[in-house]
Amino acid sequence: MSIIKKNRGIILALDVEDVSFAVRLASELRGAKGNFLIKIGRPLEMQIGRKVISIIKEVSNLPVIYDGKIADIPFISRKISENAYKSGADAVIVHAFIGKDVLREIVNLKMGDVIAVVDMTHSGSAEFIQPMARKLAEAAVEVGVDGVVLPATKPEIVKETSQILEGCYIISPGIIAQGAKVGDAIANGADYEVVGRAIYNAENPRKAAEELYKRILEV
Ligand code: C5P
Repeated sequence: MSIIKKNRGIILALDVEDVSFAVRLASELRGAKGNFLIKIGRPLEMQIGRKVISIIKEVSNLPVIYDGKIADIPFISRKISENAYKSGADAVIVHAFIGKDVLREIVNLKMGDVIAVVDMTHSGSAEFIQPMARKLAEAAVEVGVDGVVLPATKPEIVKETSQILEGCYIISPGIIAQGAKVGDAIANGADYEVVGRAIYNAENPRKAAEELYKRILEV
């Protein structure tokens, strides 16, 4: 059973390097109206280490995803994931291209959700990842991951891939700052839209997050 449900929601990508700002933002989201999750990536983790996961989880009282974009041999990928889960992460993000043995190693830990990156938003993803997207999604489903990452900037890929995902939830980044319109990914089959800069750079981040949530419910 996945921890994160296949519902509509907004995932705040907390890609700031100022830890006190991150903590303030996360506390502001506590009790905000909507279905919110927080994604912590390397830029924030590198400041004070994995304890930032437990701090952000505690002040926000929201599910936290550790976005380490894990892509190492099974032994190392497992260590990274274990550390993230032990710190309170509800899910970890791993690259599907690294292979089914790595995905399986993390899924078998059964310490939390596993989210596999199937395609990405940047133009370089067209070189190697995008042509393999369908195979990567099939591999992720076969291994039994809980969710996948698909780019909101490529709605046709979200739509096509969503059809073979059998119960996995889809999280889609690329909203506003990278050009995708709010609601586009949801309209094509995604469950969560991942938003970073458009929330943490807003004058009132809580209000911005609540407005984005309202907009995805209208789709
Ligand atoms: O600031 P912005 O909303 O563009 O942030 C997008 C977030 O989504 C970043 O945390 C980035 O690492 C992540 N991401 C992405 N494309 C992917 C996977 C993750 O932009 N395919």
